[in-house]
Amino acid sequence: SRTPIIAGNWKLNMNPKETVEFVNAVKDQLPDPSKVESVICAPAVDLDALLKAAEGSNLHVGAENCYWENSGAFTGETSPAVLKEMGVQYVIIGHSERRDYFHETDEDINKKAKAIFANGLTPILCCGESLEIREAGKEKEWVVSQIKADLEGLTSEQVSKLVIAYEPIWAIGTGKTASSDQAEEMCKTIRETVKDLYNEETAENVRIQYGGSVKPANIKELMAKPNIDGGLVGGASLVPDSYLALVNYQD
Ligand code: 13P
Repeated sequence: SRTPIIAGNWKLNMNPKETVEFVNAVKDQLPDPSKVESVICAPAVDLDALLKAAEGSNLHVGAENCYWENSGAFTGETSPAVLKEMGVQYVIIGHSERRDYFHETDEDINKKAKAIFANGLTPILCCGESLEIREAGKEKEWVVSQIKADLEGLTSEQVSKLVIAYEPIWAIGTGKTASSDQAEEMCKTIRETVKDLYNEETAENVRIQYGGSVKPANIKELMAKPNIDGGLVGGASLVPDSYLALVNYQD
């Protein structure tokens, strides 16, 4: 009974004008959100344009990052309270690009998760291993330890609403998708971890996405897996036709 959730992560692409053109091209062909939830996560500078263009449509809006404080002397940061005021619903946290290039730690990500929930927003929490870790056969313990650290102190009520995205780093932007069996195996491990940390009900409610070279050609096979509830999509979310094919994968 988990509603599938397909989210685009635009990363550092698109300007406000391109954002409005994209929304106008997709907004009348999005699935009913009770069947599949369609989300676009955009750069902070595009969110105002995205929200206005998406108003009254089935498109839900996310940010790609925010800070853990709502206001103060934190030059250059984005307030989760203001994201909420604007009408944003989701915030991506813990993306491997932020962990690697911007040195975000599990402790930072945990603080962000708490601030995002405190403001009535929903985190999309990313986790995933590097190629080196997979080749060493340590991918499960790696991801489980990320999840444990990132969820520290969150309540079962919060985690029930959470979205977790499993994104193996070796599959991001490489055209090399994890096989649907590899993706399912890790998503199942993540759900079991949530069950161990909380309870069965929370584990049944948490939505788990796969991310890494998701495209119209592989979305159906991934979504057919019992523990995969959605996709977090980079490259293929930038083009209206492929985004529409992804969110309408059930047709
Ligand atoms: P690609 O879909 O471009 O591989 O990116 C995946 C990703 O990092 C989404 O957050």
